[in-house]
Amino acid sequence: MSHPVEIDPILLSKVSKPARYVGGEWNSVVKDHDAVKLTVAYCFPDVYEVAMSHLGLRILYALLNERPDVAAERVYAPWPDMEEVMRSQGYPLFSLETKTPVRDFDMVGFTLQYEMSFTNILNMLDLAGIPLFAKDRGDDMPLVAAGGPCAYNAEPLTDYIDVFFLGESEESTQVLADTIIAWKEQGKPGGKKGLLKQLSQQPGNYVPSFYEAQYDAKGDFQGLTVTEPGAPAEIEKCVVSDVEHVFFPTKPIVPNIDIVHNRAVLELFRGCSRGCRFCQAGMLYRPVREKSPEHLADLAKQIIANSGYNEISLMSLSSADYSCLPELVDPQRWQADADFLALEFV
Ligand code: SF4
Repeated sequence: MSHPVEIDPILLSKVSKPARYVGGEWNSVVKDHDAVKLTVAYCFPDVYEVAMSHLGLRILYALLNERPDVAAERVYAPWPDMEEVMRSQGYPLFSLETKTPVRDFDMVGFTLQYEMSFTNILNMLDLAGIPLFAKDRGDDMPLVAAGGPCAYNAEPLTDYIDVFFLGESEESTQVLADTIIAWKEQGKPGGKKGLLKQLSQQPGNYVPSFYEAQYDAKGDFQGLTVTEPGAPAEIEKCVVSDVEHVFFPTKPIVPNIDIVHNRAVLELFRGCSRGCRFCQAGMLYRPVREKSPEHLADLAKQIIANSGYNEISLMSLSSADYSCLPELVDPQRWQADADFLALEFV
């Protein structure tokens, strides 16, 4: 059984924005770890205000917490003043919901949004008391996973991460949770390597310890050689085929301090019809898949009712290209709920 980290409130009052570290926000989910089969720490390697604005982790957090057998919690990078307190006082990195040390979770999942955050990942592992190198982590340590756009260029992090997830994770995350729970219930056959072998057989999963990278004389990456029998020679990204019905959170966490994107979020579509050759996101999130304006309006009303927000971001790669935009923002669509929603059209 894990013991929560108890931060001295006097020390906490001396760091900038203590609300970054206390949790307790509206719609955050607190579960008893003894009552679930799997615990997951979703880590964003940046400060609270940036991390809380990220839609991908909002989706996965709510998706897993819908399951009664899983507890998903948030962990963000502390600001340097808080890191100094943690290191000087011996506080390990902890989750916002239950203040559980990160090293006590079953799985620690990082999102890789930009390469500049990679050093923060190593710092967070170090603060958590988790060995940086995957080869140095025993079976008593959490599974360290990573996904997001930078997972497509995973090689700089392959020494540190147990498994990368390529593509959109709503469906594969459920498979992942089921796989880890079954592995635990069966007595962890084969240890962590046994689990990684199972994961390597599932779509979108790249287990770097089962491959060797090839480089040419200039040091440019040439390809991967399979070193573990049975590991796939190629790994394909996961793509959600039915974006209209895929899970989308309608109870967003409402922060107690201002964050970068402090408003409700609607995802209009995935992919981008422009196809600019220089654009990583435009390539990664192909093909274009739109949600209907009826479904989006229904989601918007639920999100606003559950959060109290009166402002909505229409979020996609190029939202002005949404083919049903005039229908979605038509004031008549919202008239019946105008008072309740307190919406203004500007
Ligand atoms: S997201 Fe922007 S830059 Fe990227 S393909 Fe679309 S229009 Fe081009």
